[in-house]
Amino acid sequence: MIPAGFDYHAPRSVADAIKLLGSLPDAKLLAGGHSLLPMMKLRFATPSALIDLGKIPDLRGIAQAGNEIRIGAMTTEHDLLNSKLVAEKLPLLAEGVSQIADPQVRYRGTIGGDISHGDPANDQPALMLALGASFVLTGPKGERVVHVDGHFLGVYSTQAQPDEILTQIRIPVPAPGSGWSYSKFKRKTGDFATAAAAVQLQMKGGTVSKVAIALTNVAMTPIKATQAEQYLVGKAIDDASLNEAARLAMAACSPTHCPRGSPDYKTAMAGEMTRRALQTALSRAKP
Ligand code: FAD
Repeated sequence: MIPAGFDYHAPRSVADAIKLLGSLPDAKLLAGGHSLLPMMKLRFATPSALIDLGKIPDLRGIAQAGNEIRIGAMTTEHDLLNSKLVAEKLPLLAEGVSQIADPQVRYRGTIGGDISHGDPANDQPALMLALGASFVLTGPKGERVVHVDGHFLGVYSTQAQPDEILTQIRIPVPAPGSGWSYSKFKRKTGDFATAAAAVQLQMKGGTVSKVAIALTNVAMTPIKATQAEQYLVGKAIDDASLNEAARLAMAACSPTHCPRGSPDYKTAMAGEMTRRALQTALSRAKP
């Protein structure tokens, strides 16, 4: 449980961090350390150097720019949970963050680290999918903005290149009157999800006008339940449509066996979480 030796660098700007990343072979970025350090202690990761992003003030903060909320990648889950702007404009994010791990992990763990880690068991990736976020990736050639759809490529793998830093998360503000829910099934408080569903919902005249459904920990990446979304548009949410949406969400799942359950169990829980998240989102939406 002792990591291999490594050098430590604490740059004061993004530009300096990018230079270090380009010049140090096998270096890794350090954010909150709550995923990276356990992996280093188990020697699953043996970086030659850590580049600590914690001393770069520009990477932290939450602000509104037009119809977007912009969040610095080093903003902690604790900061998100205590943000009035997030509570008011992005209640789905606030609800999801409240279910990540425990206060100690949320105090150090960052939104950028949770997304960059590329773990399908993490909660932020599905929340980002449901919210339609974009990510600012900054590297030696400058900035590029990528959409969350297609960002997660596999377990611990994202579109970000090894010389790029996720610097900012941009989230469009959902339409007024939208409903939301993050329904997470876990074995105990502080645990990763057995399965979870993030729902962002708009209703018009008693039927669904827009819905996003994203699932945690039921495939090699977080996934959208696209067929369930398409099925629901134009329909009322009742027992029949909930059953069919849950069935379609389950059909999108392809989990592997893990300590949290068998593939069949995790799939069944994804269906149930989808059903519950839709019901809760409906109760919060304005018709
Ligand atoms: P780090 O651990 O520092 O980094 C993680 C990875 O991302 C590293 O590879 C690092 O190089 C890379 N990275 C970090 N920041 C950037 C960046 N800005 N740009 C590019 N690459 C970057 N998470 C959940 O979502 N839900 C849970 O229920 C949950 N439960 C947990 C329970 C425990 C007991 C623990 C220890 C962790 C748990 N986690 C959970 C994980 C936790 O949320 C981590 O904080 C998170 O996965 C990683 O964020 P971090 O800031 O700690 O990143």
